[in-house]
Amino acid sequence: MQQVIDFHAHLPWWVRDPVEAGRVLVGVWERAGIIRGVAIAVEPSIEAFKARVTEERIYNAVGDMMDYVALSRLPMMNKLVYSPGEAVREHIEVLREHTRSTEEVLKAARELDQILPVASLNPDRGISWNVERLRRVIDEIVGVKIFPTLHFIRPNHRSLGRLYRLLEEEGRIVIVHTGCDPGVWELPAMCSDARPRLVAEAARRYRDLVFVIAHLGSYSALQPGIFFHEALEALGLDNVYSDTSAADPFFVKRAVEEVGGDKLLFGSDYPYITGTEPRDWVNAILELDIPGRVKTAILYNNASRLLERIGL
Ligand SMILES: [Zn+2]
Repeated sequence: MQQVIDFHAHLPWWVRDPVEAGRVLVGVWERAGIIRGVAIAVEPSIEAFKARVTEERIYNAVGDMMDYVALSRLPMMNKLVYSPGEAVREHIEVLREHTRSTEEVLKAARELDQILPVASLNPDRGISWNVERLRRVIDEIVGVKIFPTLHFIRPNHRSLGRLYRLLEEEGRIVIVHTGCDPGVWELPAMCSDARPRLVAEAARRYRDLVFVIAHLGSYSALQPGIFFHEALEALGLDNVYSDTSAADPFFVKRAVEEVGGDKLLFGSDYPYITGTEPRDWVNAILELDIPGRVKTAILYNNASRLLERIGL
C-alpha cells in the first residue's frame, strides 16, 4: 500500500472530545494508508461575520451571480435569496458548531503521534495576542492557517507581518484557504479575499516562509476552478506550495502538467467533503493519468520533505 501523508484535515466536529475526535480521524486515515497528517484548527469570527455579512451585502453579492445562483440548486442559495435574515442566523449556528480551537487540536496531537497540529488565526483577538499564543506552542505546531473567508482578512494584509515574521524565524509554515467556501462564501463577491495572488504577494515579501495554498484556489460549487490560474502562477514562487484538498482531481492533473508535481501536497479536507473519506481522495490521485513517481511525490515525498525541514 502506498504510504500517504494527509496535509489538510480537521478533527470531526461532531465528536466534541478532541482526543476522541483525533481517534476517529486516525481511524479513517488508517483505512487510506495515511500514516500521519495535519489537523487544522478552525477559529471563525462570529463578530466579524455579524458585522460584514449584512442582508444588503448578500443582496448585492447574489445580484452579481443571479444566473449561477438560479442554476445551482444549492438549498443555501435559495435561502440567501428569499430569507437572508434566516440564512445569516443559520450560518452563525454552523460557525459555532464547527469551531475547533488551536488548544483542542494540540490536546489531540499530544495524545496521538499521527496528528500534526496546525493552529488557526483567531481574528477576534489582536495580532499581539495571536503572536504570543503561537510563541508558546511554536515547537509543537506545523504552522498556522488563515481563512480569508471565515476570518475576513486578506492574506497579504500588513497586520499579519509580525505573525509571518515569527513563523519565518521559527521555520514554520502558513496555510491559506483559497477559493470559495460553503454557504454565503460560495458567492464570488464573498470569497474575493481568498485569492492565490494575494498569497503570492505575501510570499514575495517573506521569501523564507513557506505558504501552502489550500484547495489549488479552485474550490467553488458555482464556478469550479474559480482561482485555479492564480494558484498556478503563485506556484511559480519557490516558497509557495498547494494542497490538493477539495479540488476536483482534474485540476490536480492540470497542475502537474503546467507546473510539475514537486510542490503539490495531498489533502483530504476530512470531514468536510460530504459523502467521502480520505481513502476516496487517495484513490482519486492513484487513478490519475500522471507518472507513478509524481503520485508518490504528491501523496508522500513532498510533505515528508517539508515536515523534515520543520523538524517534525
Ligand atoms: Zn479544510
